[in-house]
Parts: sequence; C-alpha cells; structure tokens
Amino acid sequence: EHTADDDTRRILLASPRSFCAGVERAIEIVERALRSYTPPIYVRKEIVHNSYVVDDLASKGAVFVEELDEVPDGATLVFSAHGVSPAVREEADRKNLDVIDGTCPLVSKVHAKARRFAARGDTVVLFGHSGHEEIEGTYGEAPESTVLVESADEVADLSVPDPDRVSYLTQTTLAVDETNDFVRELREKYPNVSEPASEDICYATTNRQHALNEVIAESDLVLVVGSTNSSNSVRLVEISRRQGTPAELIDGAEDITAEWLDGVRTIGVTAGASAPPKLVDEVVEALRGFGPATVAEREFTHETMHFELPSVLRGAGEGAA
Ligand code: SF4
Repeated sequence: EHTADDDTRRILLASPRSFCAGVERAIEIVERALRSYTPPIYVRKEIVHNSYVVDDLASKGAVFVEELDEVPDGATLVFSAHGVSPAVREEADRKNLDVIDGTCPLVSKVHAKARRFAARGDTVVLFGHSGHEEIEGTYGEAPESTVLVESADEVADLSVPDPDRVSYLTQTTLAVDETNDFVRELREKYPNVSEPASEDICYATTNRQHALNEVIAESDLVLVVGSTNSSNSVRLVEISRRQGTPAELIDGAEDITAEWLDGVRTIGVTAGASAPPKLVDEVVEALRGFGPATVAEREFTHETMHFELPSVLRGAGEGAA
C-alpha cells in the first residue's frame, strides 16, 4: 500500500492554459496607454477578471472605476475586454472621453450578430450569466429583442412573439457541454431557430476545456488558477467536478491548502484565460514544496491566435516599461 508521502507526486499541466489573445491584448492596451498618454488612465471595470492583473496595473497607475460617473469629462478611458453596451458608449461620447476600446474582437463579433439578428426581426435568446459584464454588453445591443436564459431548463418556459423568428447567442466563456444542452433544448422548442454560422464560445474557452478534459481522468485533484469572477475559470472547476474529480479554484500559490493534497498522487493544473502564466509557475513551485513531484504537460493543441492593437496604440508606448 503506497501513501502519497513515500511516493513522488505527478503534476500534469493542461495546455493550452492561461492568457488568451483577447486578454493579452487588453492588458497591452492598458500598459501602452499608461506609457504614452497623460495620466490618469481610467479603466471601466476590471480590464480582465483577474485580481493579480488588476492589482498590477493599478500599481502602475491605472485607475479602475465601476461606472463613467466616476470619470471626469475629457479623460482617457479604457473599456475592458468584456465589452460595453451602446448606452455606455453614448455616455462616453457625452462626457467627451478619449476612449480606447479593450473589448475582445471575439466579443465584438457577438455584439455585431446581436444587432444583425435583432434588425431582421428575430427574438435573440442569449445564453449566459446574468450580471456578467459581457452579458450586460451583449444584451444592451438590442434589449427589446433579447431574452436572457441562464440554464437549459429555462428554455421550456420561454415565450416569444414569433416562434419562427428565433436566433441565439451565447456568452464566449461557457462550458461547451452545457451550451450543447441549451442548443438542443432550443431546437426542440423552436425547430426553425436560425443556426449561427459560427459558435460564440471562443477558441480559448474551448481549447482550455478540451485540454483539461485530457488530464481530468488521470488526476486525483485539479487546481484551476483564476479569480472567482472569471467565468471561464469557474467553468473549468465545474467541468472537472462533473466528471468526478475534485477541483479547486485558486488565485495563486498562497491559496493551496495542505489537506487538499492528502492521498493525492496526480494533480492536474490549468488556468483560466485571464490568469497570468507566472501564477501557474508559482503554483507548480509551491506544489513541489509539498514533496517530490514530476511535472509533465499534456498539449491538446498549440494556440497561435493574436489580435491587433487598436490603431491609435500601434507603435505607441512600445518597449521599456
Ligand atoms: Fe476573447 Fe475568448 Fe479571451 Fe474572452 S476568453 S478575451 S472572448 S479570446
């Protein structure tokens, strides 16, 4: 009978994990604005849902606000990666703000679809989490034509003006399996629902879930690096638990609890799209501190996605930090 104490543990790193292209772009936007614009640089909401990233940018001078009434007229304001509703853009115009848009291009795509579907007279069924900033923004594109659904079970209770004019959109950071359930329910209820040309769940969310799926079965415990308000990180924890592998969401190495590791031989490690790679390195180091461990990586796919910066920032504030 082996115990964890006299055996080397195995750390399995799921890949891809950590930063996606949209998060890298949003952070780079704030960093460049801090270097090349006259301070203060305001940021509406957390630029990405990670407390380490927000604290780091705040320490470099970024001023995070919840709403635009906290921003003086004419100031420089960055919109977060999650996007904003047209109402927020209008308010920024009224206040004459110098806006730099950190909205992930993949979120902007969903907004464009919301406008198009609503304009052709559809009821847009939006699948996502109420209160999440991305949902507020997408919903705000066509509030009169949009209904929010938070779970597949709610589809049964939907009522729309014309069942033959229904389309759907989803938040970019949902669980693929839950979203498939939603779509199945929706098709059953509205057989003529318009099928979107492409999924709204983004490549990064999908890849992180598939990569984690490759390590869940082998792991006794899964650690997901990410903040509690990070939708895609929370989904990773839920996916692991649904498959019967205990999982914990941690902001960083300091959150690891020794008891979690009791009897644990193999630890799967991943990180949400807003969690810095550096935090994962620290988690691996901390795990080694609990006893001998080998580290292996399971690569589901190699990501090469990259998004251009807004044109106003290209070439601005490059180089030395
Ligand atoms: Fe964009 Fe997806 Fe990253 Fe969100 S998780 S910022 S939608 S790439």
